[in-house]
This record gives sequence, structure tokens and C-alpha cells, in this order.
Amino acid sequence: MKIDQFPEDIRPYLIPEPYGQMAYRCVGCKSEFNIDHLIYTCPTCGNVLLLHDKNTQHLTDIGGKTWRRIFDYRRMLNHNALKGIFRYYEFIAPVIPIDQIIYLGEAHTPLVEANTRLKKDLGIDFYFKNDGLNPSASFKDRGMACALSYIHYLANKEKLNNILAICASTGDTSASAALYASYLGDFLKSAVLLPKGKVTPQQLSQPLGSGAKVLEIPGVFDDCMKVVESLSENYNVALLNSKNSWRILGQESFSFEIAQDFDYEVGDKVIVVPIGNAGNITAVMSGFLKFFTIGIIDMLPKIIGVQSEHADPVYRYYLEGDPDKRSFSPVTVRQSVAQAAMIGNPVSMPRVIELAAEYNHTAGEKRIFFVQVTEQQIMDSMIVANRNGNIACTQGGESLAGFQKAIDSGYVRPKEIGVLDSTAHILKFSVFQDMYFNNGFDPAFHVKPIPELKNAPILLKPENLKKYPEPGKPLHEEEMKLFIREMTAEIASILDLEMK
Ligand SMILES: *Cc1c(COP(=O)(O)O)cnc(C)c1O
Ligand SMILES: [Zn+2]
Repeated sequence: MKIDQFPEDIRPYLIPEPYGQMAYRCVGCKSEFNIDHLIYTCPTCGNVLLLHDKNTQHLTDIGGKTWRRIFDYRRMLNHNALKGIFRYYEFIAPVIPIDQIIYLGEAHTPLVEANTRLKKDLGIDFYFKNDGLNPSASFKDRGMACALSYIHYLANKEKLNNILAICASTGDTSASAALYASYLGDFLKSAVLLPKGKVTPQQLSQPLGSGAKVLEIPGVFDDCMKVVESLSENYNVALLNSKNSWRILGQESFSFEIAQDFDYEVGDKVIVVPIGNAGNITAVMSGFLKFFTIGIIDMLPKIIGVQSEHADPVYRYYLEGDPDKRSFSPVTVRQSVAQAAMIGNPVSMPRVIELAAEYNHTAGEKRIFFVQVTEQQIMDSMIVANRNGNIACTQGGESLAGFQKAIDSGYVRPKEIGVLDSTAHILKFSVFQDMYFNNGFDPAFHVKPIPELKNAPILLKPENLKKYPEPGKPLHEEEMKLFIREMTAEIASILDLEMK
């Protein structure tokens, strides 16, 4: 829709200009630092940072009701920079000029209602939010769009023309970073550090295809993370892990979209997210808190964080009910099908501790829960989800398994509605599906397929058929007739078809 067709009172707000006064704030000592440089940890105490906008007066002055209208009208606006995460510009990074925004088609992923069979199985209504439908096929693109837009802006402002962007990854961060970096081209190069053999072939092919330098490290993600941290402390590189708080800001769009897609009624919703490095759950909590504070939503949804029993440090931390007695210890991860979340020492743990406490306090009751699921439950849930019209990855399966666990644990009321984060596309994780179908899991995974859920292709080789067509070698007329006849009969027999 053209600008002059929007209501007059909304027009001035449609295309925003930078006004924010953003600063890094340390989660530990609360010191603030300006955003003229990329920093990842507090120069004073070493803790992780979060970005915040000090000019919230602007948001308050406009008020929840008008914000809802602004976002709903922006939905109709054809302006590329505002089509992705930056529909919520003022709540993400209102310091980036909109002509510096990178948009590759990320965000506004569909909420797909579970079919009747799945809803009946769980006894409750729920949706999948398919974040595998982002450009690099995972939710990481939300954060990358923000981080790279900011770097783009900074590079132009400071006339930097030789930036090396670097990240450690369980597969999806590197795919996303490499994609966005390749779009920006000349002034920015990217290198990614991967744990050798711990990302799927599809995930490995992504940064290679985007032209990134791909460095494989023998070890697990936690080891790669230590190396990349050392690099970012000692060398001039732009770190693109979720330690980079610009990523968190972009990922908050997940919450904003859920709010908008339910017409801002989220008090009865239960958001379910898998936890790895804990950047995602940090962003989800922070996003809903922002909308609640400004009055865009009037209740905070419940949030369920899910971890596999093979990588469950966050779950373990919260097992202790008394906040004063809790203490965090990293765990040594074991093989997990939820490989993208196979992390024993989550970088965002201090952010989670702070935000979960604030969230529950603001809601006036406990609204954040953590559950643990088995590898078997994750795989079975993924297969079941996808046999019911979804495109869930193993971590999406983890969300479904975790939702079931939360229901069984009494964390969900019957009238509440689940929103399950399917964080990536199944196609990235098809090797795990293959292992399930072939009963090929290494014993370390502890997964045995349920026979009814297995599937395999059937090769058709009818007995009477001796010749088959090949590329460049078609069959002759009579041979082709025989081929069609024999194949048809074979298929009819396998499928038990009745003659017309
Ligand atoms: C990164 C990732 C996760 C874990 O998210 P964190 O922010 O690290 O907790 C889960 N699923 C997929 C598909 C991912 O790529
Ligand atoms: Zn500090």
C-alpha cells in the first residue's frame, strides 16, 4: 500500500529514523558502555552484556495501542528494510539508519496450527512456529540480520573496509553468518569455526557455498567457543556468536511476531524453545518483557525451556528451587540428536539468570519453566511431528517432546495454547532421520526407532523385466511398453490396488 493511503495519524510513524540512545550494559556489574565499538564482554568485570535503549520515553509516549496499530499497518507497507525483523525497528535497534539495514527475507515465519490428530494426542491446542523457513533455514538469521546491519552501519560510519567476521558454530550460526557476510561482500569477509564431524553435511555445505573460510576443529562446540573467544579478545575480528548482543536484539523479533500474530493476546500462550547456548531463550524473554513494559501486550506468556538429558546445564541449574542456593556448573555434553543445542557451558547463562528472575517478578508468578527430555523422546517427537504435516528439525522435535513433558509436569493448563519453536528446517538434520529409519544410531545416542515410525524407499525390480532405461539410453517401443506394464503391476501389488 502507498504511504498516502495509510491513516493520517499513522503516516509519520511508518518509516522510522534513528533516535535511540543505545548502550551496552553489563549483566554482572551493570556498567554501561557506548556502542561506537563492538564489544562482547564487560571491560570492567568480564561478564556478558545486553544492549538497551535509554530513550524508552519515546516508546511510552506513543503507547501500546498506537504501537499495535503501527505494526499492523507496517505489515502492509512495501519497504524492504522494514519487511523483516525491523518491522519492530523501535524495539530492536533504533540507531541503525534504515538505508543500512540488510534484509534477506528473514523473519515473519508461519505459525502452523497442529492438525487434529496431534492436538488430540497431546490433549491441547498448539502451533509450530517454523523458523526453518528463514533464508539459511534456521532462526539464527533473525539475529544475524541485526548484527550485520549494525556492522554495515558501523563500517560506513567509521570507514572500515577490511572486517573479518568470525564465529564458532554448531552449524546454523555459521550458515547464517556466512550467508549475510557474503551479501555484504567487499568490506567484510567471514570465517567460521566448526567442531569436526559435529555438524551435518548440509550445515557444512552452507558456509562453503557462501564462500566463507571454513575451519574445522577436532572437539565439541564448547571447545570451538573457547578458541573463538580467544581470537576475539586478541585480534581485530567481529564476533558473530550470540555473545554479540546485537544478535540477541534481532532474535527478539520471534516474540514480537508471536504477539502480533495472536492480535497481541499472549497471556494464554505457552512458548516452547530448545536451549543450547541460551541466546534464543534470552531473546524470547527479553522481547516479551519489552512489549509488556510498553503495554503492547497486557500479560506475559509462559515460556518453557527444553534441554536434552545429554546437554542439560540450564535445566540442572534450576532444579534447585531456592535462588540463593543455585550455582551454575557446566556439564560435559554427550552425543545428542539435537546437535545444534549440544552445549554444556552456555554463554548466555548469566543473561538467562537475570531475565528469568525479572520475567517471573514482572509477571507476579512463576512463568518460566525448564524441562529435560530424552534423546529417544526428541527423535520420536520429530518423526511424529513431520508425519503430521510439519517440517520440524531435531530441535523442533525437542520442543514437542518438551511441551509434552511440561504438560505431564503440570506446567500447562488445559485451556492454554502452545507455540513450539521449530528452530531449523528438517532438511538440515535429515541424517538423524536416516539413522532413525535405518536403525543406525551409534549406541551413545540411546535411540531405538519405533518400528511403526520407520520408513524406507522400495526399489522396484519386477522379475520379468530385464532392461531399464538409463540417461541417454531410452528403451525401444516394445521394451518401453513392457517396462510400463511390469512396473504398473508391481506397484499395484505392493499398494494393494483394486482394478477399475
Ligand atoms: C542455535 C540453535 C539452537 C539453540 O539456540 P541457542 O540460542 O544457542 O540456545 C536450537 N536449534 C537450532 C536449530 C539452532 O540452530
Ligand atoms: Zn561488568
